[in-house]
Amino acid sequence: MAKLKQETIAAQIGNRKCERTGAVNMPVYFSTAYQHADLGVSTGYDYTRTGNPTRDALEEALAELENGTHAFATSSGMSAIQLVFQLFKTGEHIISSQDLYGGTFRYFEQFGAQYNIGFSYWNGAEIADLEKLLRVETKAVFIETPTNPLMQETDIAAVASWAREHDLLVIVDNTFYTPVLQQPLNLGADIVIHSATKYLGGHNDVLAGAVIVKDDSLGGFFFNQLNATGTVLSPFDSWLLIRGLKTLVIRVRQHQANAQKIAAFLETHPLVEEVRYPGRGGMISFFIQDAALVSPLLKQLELFTFAESLGGVESLITYPTTQTHADIPVELRNSYGLTDKLLRISVGIEASEDLVADLAQALDKVAEGVVSHG
Ligand SMILES: *Cc1c(COP(=O)(O)O)cnc(C)c1O
Repeated sequence: MAKLKQETIAAQIGNRKCERTGAVNMPVYFSTAYQHADLGVSTGYDYTRTGNPTRDALEEALAELENGTHAFATSSGMSAIQLVFQLFKTGEHIISSQDLYGGTFRYFEQFGAQYNIGFSYWNGAEIADLEKLLRVETKAVFIETPTNPLMQETDIAAVASWAREHDLLVIVDNTFYTPVLQQPLNLGADIVIHSATKYLGGHNDVLAGAVIVKDDSLGGFFFNQLNATGTVLSPFDSWLLIRGLKTLVIRVRQHQANAQKIAAFLETHPLVEEVRYPGRGGMISFFIQDAALVSPLLKQLELFTFAESLGGVESLITYPTTQTHADIPVELRNSYGLTDKLLRISVGIEASEDLVADLAQALDKVAEGVVSHG
């Protein structure tokens, strides 16, 4: 059969896996131990940290969706990032996107200080600026694209071809676009990371991460590290993630269609200073005219929930200054444009008319407040 499309891969995850019962839905194998028929005889499973059938079904699908050969499901997005950074040794150096998830920045700072690994930050735009950060010790480039929360796209293919000349690994956190909108391995990246807590799971009900590669030696390294450290995804959470993934493609389409309408609306509102939307995906950031309006706006919203996450079916609004990016020093944040006027929206799959109406009523009430209270 021809290579299957993502919709088909996703909808069929776990089907035809249980020969004994013919279960259409992937069973959750809670068993931690697996019987051996004799010395040296195995079903392929012996202990659940090393391998679990439910997690295997998930990992197989993750690899297919990202067009990789090996995937690893981990207990969180941060544990996926930590798994990948076990590649690096004291004295080495990594170049990373400047504008990135606050928890990743916090991890880099702690990990770098503890193991004497250097991090340099790049704004994700010009390869010439990337070149300036290169050292003999540099081993990898880590990018989040679009950047978070400023929503600038980085050209993965351009980074990858530059990195190949210098023998560097390219690691892409693909949480925001998902393989539906961007497949970094096809663009030349070596390693893809996800916080599967976000779009892959899609329902704000499971904490999970993923690492996907297309290379046997990286695959073998991550398998051994994960087996050694044990930060694997549990069988039940693997099942929840499978359930979420089945609808990934249609969810992303709806997130994006809604986001395009909301971004167009926000562009027209006088209280909105600037909209950051790269034209695809479900994430929008915008600057409001005055930081003092943030709290009143959050109080007026009825459908957008003020909460810290993204990628779920429910629309959320986040204030990076006090939530996702609070661990980045304020002077540093301000220096690259992440100011206290910035709000970030994760557009859900509700009706776009309802979402636009909610933003309109809230912004209008705040605007009236501004007028009447001077
Ligand atoms: C949330 C997030 C992470 C961290 O993932 P967890 O699942 O919360 O551990 C990493 N990268 C990005 C882009 C994220 O949004």
